[in-house]
Amino acid sequence: MNHMEKILNYIGGEFFPPAADKWIENVNPSLGKVYGLIPESSKSDVDKAVDAAYLAFPTWSETPASERARLMNKIADLMERDLQILAEMESTDSGKPLHVSLTVDIPRAISNIRFFAGAIQHFASESHAMEGVAVNYTLRQPVGIAACISPWNLPLYLFTWKIAPAFATGNTVVAKPSELTPATAYHFARLCAEAGLPPGVLNIIHGTGGSAGSAMVEHPLVKLISFTGGTRTGEIIAASAAPKFKKLSLELGGKNATLIFEDCDFEETVSEAARAAFSNQGQICLCGSRILIQRSIYNRFRDAFVEKVRKLKTGNPFERSSNLGAVVSEGHMNKVLSYIDLAREEGGAVLTGGNRVFPDGCEGGYFIEPTVIEGLDASCRVNREEIFGPVVTLIPFDTEDDAVEIANGTDYGLAFSVWTTNVKRAHKLAARLKTGIVWINCWMLRDLRTPFGGVKNSGVGREGGWEALRFFTEAKNVCIKY
Ligand code: NAD
Repeated sequence: MNHMEKILNYIGGEFFPPAADKWIENVNPSLGKVYGLIPESSKSDVDKAVDAAYLAFPTWSETPASERARLMNKIADLMERDLQILAEMESTDSGKPLHVSLTVDIPRAISNIRFFAGAIQHFASESHAMEGVAVNYTLRQPVGIAACISPWNLPLYLFTWKIAPAFATGNTVVAKPSELTPATAYHFARLCAEAGLPPGVLNIIHGTGGSAGSAMVEHPLVKLISFTGGTRTGEIIAASAAPKFKKLSLELGGKNATLIFEDCDFEETVSEAARAAFSNQGQICLCGSRILIQRSIYNRFRDAFVEKVRKLKTGNPFERSSNLGAVVSEGHMNKVLSYIDLAREEGGAVLTGGNRVFPDGCEGGYFIEPTVIEGLDASCRVNREEIFGPVVTLIPFDTEDDAVEIANGTDYGLAFSVWTTNVKRAHKLAARLKTGIVWINCWMLRDLRTPFGGVKNSGVGREGGWEALRFFTEAKNVCIKY
């Protein structure tokens, strides 16, 4: 994006400034500088986008799945062509290392589109025969207009994770990326236009949650909402949608546990626990931010882990040597730093990190050292609340029961990982942990066919694979009497 370029809304296949001509500043978090403007869209922009989606729905919902898939694959081809451009935009906008955008964010966004282009052509529904009497079949029809709202941590990755199944199933879409990271969604809109996606099938509105986001959620023609973001925002959206009986999928916050047993593969576990803690500056809902370690190996693990973390470099996201880049905003940096202060107040010891850093050439940016804390009770605030930054706590445990109790002891339940070579233990724990995902001897190994989502305050509903195609369709029972 050129300096101070204005991002525009994408409505009915065309690009528009916000009707009220209100703009918000887009900040480059690794420099701490404003570098663009984005629309602060309001209800009138959302109304216009919903009108466009409404007009496009009859034709799009009757377009054969093979044709929808062809267009989606064309969009994916263009994303592949622009991989470098998209990755640079993502890193500029979010502060994440360029090599992460190049190898994780953008390739996964492309896979999301290709995966659902394929899945929709294999999707089938059930038939139930009542012998000699009747046959039932299930019609799976698009719901109508889907609102897709996504966060800033994996911007294009999570944006496409929702949009792809939404329009693959024949819905038309009004989508909003986070106001903190709008750039790749804007470029994605240009690619959709270039690919020839019919006008109105996808409309992208930019702006804050309180203005554009809530107008999307409240719009009477929007019948389905797919939201990924914070638990508090999920509560607000659920409260607004429930009385209108809208279909809801909420992917919310987490406070994930990494459970390490004395019989783990030690070297691999040290290294993967560090990756789980600090990937994307710890700003992934799946990050393992509480490391539970069996007491018999606690000291050995702690020392090896701290040594590993001290080698991680926090710096300019555009330098290949940087393992961690900037966190997304000044506000978020201050929130994360305040949790480090709280950890000290609660009696924790900071073993490494704990401070803001000012890398060469990026002195104004929002960088925090990877931080490891020990000595906190499992029930204190730092161990129960989501920090969503490069901060991890170490907690010793004695028995399997203790580990389960600590792991399950927060209001969240999204993604836990278990490190053990004991297969029996692994299976037993998988069943006992209250969470949407259990990774055994791995972290963030994703198969897009699997159900994805959380329990407790981590969310409601599942996306991914058939779950997503079911969520974005209504099942209708058709019963034919012989
Ligand atoms: P957020 O809730 O502040 O914002 C998410 C999106 O919702 C943004 O686009 C925002 O503009 C919009 N929004 C805010 N208020 C709204 C409202 N009242 N109505 C409609 N839309 C509104 O979250 P964030 O800070 O962008 O993201 C970080 C959070 O997301 C963390 O809690 C993280 O755990 C969570 N997250 C969860 C998953 C998951 O799959 N479970 C994945 C990634 C991130």
